Amino acid sequence: MSVIRDGIPAAPGIVIAPARVLRWEVPRVPHGVTVPEAQVEAEVQRFLDACAYAQERIRAVQARAEVTVGEVEARIFDPQVLMLEDADLVQGTIGYIRDNHLTAERAFEWRVLEWESALSHSSHPMIIDRLADLADVQARVLRRLMGMPDPDLAARVEGDKVILIAHELTPSVTVQLDPKHVIGIATDLGTRTSHSAILARSLDIPCVVSLGNLSETVRDGDELILDGRQGRVVIAPSDEEKETYRQRDYLVREWEQELVLLAHLPSVTRDGTRIELRSNIDLPGEAESARTHGADGVGLYRTEFLVVGRATAPGEEEQYAAYRKVADAFLGQPVIIRTYDLGGDKFPAFLHIGREENPFLGWRAIRVCLDEPDMFRTQLRALGRAMVHGDIRIMLPLVNEISEVERSRVLLEECLAQLRAEGEPVPATYKLGAMIETPAAAMLAPELAKHVDFFSIGTNDLVQYTLAVDRGNSRLARLYNPFHPAVVRLLDLITRAGNEAGIEVGVCGELAANPVGAFMLIGMRAHSLSVAPSSLAEIKKVIRSVTWEAAAEAAAEALTAATPDAVATGLTQRLSRMLDLGKFNGGYNLSGGE
Ligand code: PEP
Ligand code: MG
Repeated sequence: MSVIRDGIPAAPGIVIAPARVLRWEVPRVPHGVTVPEAQVEAEVQRFLDACAYAQERIRAVQARAEVTVGEVEARIFDPQVLMLEDADLVQGTIGYIRDNHLTAERAFEWRVLEWESALSHSSHPMIIDRLADLADVQARVLRRLMGMPDPDLAARVEGDKVILIAHELTPSVTVQLDPKHVIGIATDLGTRTSHSAILARSLDIPCVVSLGNLSETVRDGDELILDGRQGRVVIAPSDEEKETYRQRDYLVREWEQELVLLAHLPSVTRDGTRIELRSNIDLPGEAESARTHGADGVGLYRTEFLVVGRATAPGEEEQYAAYRKVADAFLGQPVIIRTYDLGGDKFPAFLHIGREENPFLGWRAIRVCLDEPDMFRTQLRALGRAMVHGDIRIMLPLVNEISEVERSRVLLEECLAQLRAEGEPVPATYKLGAMIETPAAAMLAPELAKHVDFFSIGTNDLVQYTLAVDRGNSRLARLYNPFHPAVVRLLDLITRAGNEAGIEVGVCGELAANPVGAFMLIGMRAHSLSVAPSSLAEIKKVIRSVTWEAAAEAAAEALTAATPDAVATGLTQRLSRMLDLGKFNGGYNLSGGE
């Protein structure tokens, strides 16, 4: 009997292979060991040497990561390097050696335990990431102190193709993976935004995270199916299940093959309405793959991933280089760069946000940018400089009020004037847009439209704020439904307001990547849809298979429906007349949850 485990999809792709369970465990330190007074200083020195060695090893892994996954991505090791310089951690450990005559191993373990317990009171993904970094550092220092070799990961996974199972993968382990051997990753912990998930996407290894106690359930050699799009792992699958997934994989690949052929064809409906199909990217390195997959530009570049896990804010030069890299990949095509959407579930250490009862209703996105003008100015200056190299447009997250747009505009104008005075080339005009992702912004859309050059609808947040359903709470996943009539009506309000004002209306939330959702949005006169690179194929297929007229009729009908089921069923039936939706089955979730 097979066992199905569902987690969070973190990197797309379907693979079938035996499991290899990796235990990157922190070594057990013998208890009750102390050192005589005369040896205390030697013990302190042994600890400092181990820290220096660990730092050197982390730097070496970082240097390798720069080559394999890119410079920006390699920055995720910065916090580990900094931890080993942190006075609280290092001096605290030395204090335990000197005061309690503990061995270096035991003293360090104590100090780390204290850090862990302080950090683990938070449920924020960013803090959870810090715990992963801490575990990485702890294992390195302890292994050195205890005379154990650095784990030779390559030897553990070489040979056949395997799906790597771990309780949690630390970034430095993930970055050592060779995609030729490790063809899938499944972990007990982790979030979509955790470092390992980001690295898995960059390395193109299908990945599912947050799978509970999978690593305790699976044994080396167990056969598994891993579906990184669906977020599912099947343990000991039957022949029938394997066949189903092979078929699904085949269909997805067939879609992708089709896209190779479609990539150069325009993204137009059968009756000639052009829908710009753009890509969402999290890291500058993804721009190239988005372009080869046929995106007409970037509809959402989430710049906050530049700062994920960083102890210091990235400077103007670093940001400028990242923004240029994306613009260079899409010469002549729009690249929408969103200013930092920090807070909520993304907390860089340098912001000292502090604990909030309700982070998604708290200090986040444009609120943070406007309250931290120095940080915001650095980003706007970098954007201003990058803008002359392409069609870069600036987008503000979580706008609720006109004043937020206007205050941002004043800052942007100031930055442009300053750059001009410094002799930097800056564009004469620019495009500034707002994400519409709260009911407040939706209700205010007709007025907001007079103050911006474009709207981009963030359905992920719009759904959670409209329905009062946390987008990350798996218990409520059933209620997180973008086809709820209240959401549909707000979408209509926004698209109508944008069209009446003559500005572009795009959609960059996950609903745009749902075939049925895309169909409805086309019917509502959305001008552009922006989806993850892995969804470009399907959505291009949807656009080229439907007529705008049929989509408009379907959207009009959806607006009259009173229940989420009635909305979804009506749309699905109409779309099925033009497209074999069976091919998509299982590949997306009709309720559209993330
Ligand atoms: C959204 O809210 O729909 C969106 C695209 O932004 P994010 O998912 O980054 O919050
Ligand atoms: Mg959002």
